[in-house]
Amino acid sequence: MKLRKVTAASAAVIALALTATACGEGAAEKDAKGGSEGGKGKITVGIKFDQPGLGQKTPQGYAGFDVDVAKYVAKELGYSEDQIEFKESKSQDRENMLSRGDVDFIAATYSINDEREKKVDFAGPYLLAHQDLLVRADDDSIKSAEDLNSKKLCSVTGSTSAQNVKQKLAPKAQLQEYPTYSACLTGLQNGAVDALTTDDSILAGYAAQDSHKGKFKLAGLELSNENYGIGVKEGSDLKAKINAALEKMVSDGSWEKAVEANFGPANYENEPAPKIGDIKK
Ligand code: GLU
Repeated sequence: MKLRKVTAASAAVIALALTATACGEGAAEKDAKGGSEGGKGKITVGIKFDQPGLGQKTPQGYAGFDVDVAKYVAKELGYSEDQIEFKESKSQDRENMLSRGDVDFIAATYSINDEREKKVDFAGPYLLAHQDLLVRADDDSIKSAEDLNSKKLCSVTGSTSAQNVKQKLAPKAQLQEYPTYSACLTGLQNGAVDALTTDDSILAGYAAQDSHKGKFKLAGLELSNENYGIGVKEGSDLKAKINAALEKMVSDGSWEKAVEANFGPANYENEPAPKIGDIKK
């Protein structure tokens, strides 16, 4: 939490703003902070809606590893499943959604990094993934990151993958940034782009989707370490509570169960559970 000088006038404004928050939409966060006596209000959680295996909105509800992690954490904070309101948090929207108080926490393939930590706080990490490429199954021309330099590559605005391509991996690739992963996937299918880059955990889910079976393959490159954290508003005391919940999720076997249920169908070979605070560079 950054300390700022507070004048009498701005203190009055802050006091008013706090009052407004307390009776308005921020109620969920107030409840969440109240912790175990919760049970009354709602908790609002940001997830992805278009990532099978991680965060997906289906006709039957929400599913995926991030959804299971979010439900476990919410339960530890005193909220039952029907008290969770899931909101879509696209990659580029996550920091703003937390700062504005639109959501209490975000579990959405959200990598911990220095730039984001200037704006929000992270509990975790709770999963280690790696950046990889998804290409069309019949395309053998892309075997390394350098091969991308003459290709059209899709990544999602506001993701670490997009930044990594521009800064390090293939600065000469024709990078197209789309707002969502599903948009990139459509582009890959119809030939508008030659490859889609993001975390292998996400790409495995796309390759295994019924509607896409046999159409795409992963290049199998570990282009980065992506340490998934649970994002909270900067300075929030939820961070410590969520860390405790994540530790319990691993020690009681629920983490492993969630991994098998959600990554098993895609044959994704995940890394073992990371230790809280152990961020792989
Ligand atoms: N984990 C990476 C990130 O946080 C890529 C996946 C995503 O866009 O959510 O940017």
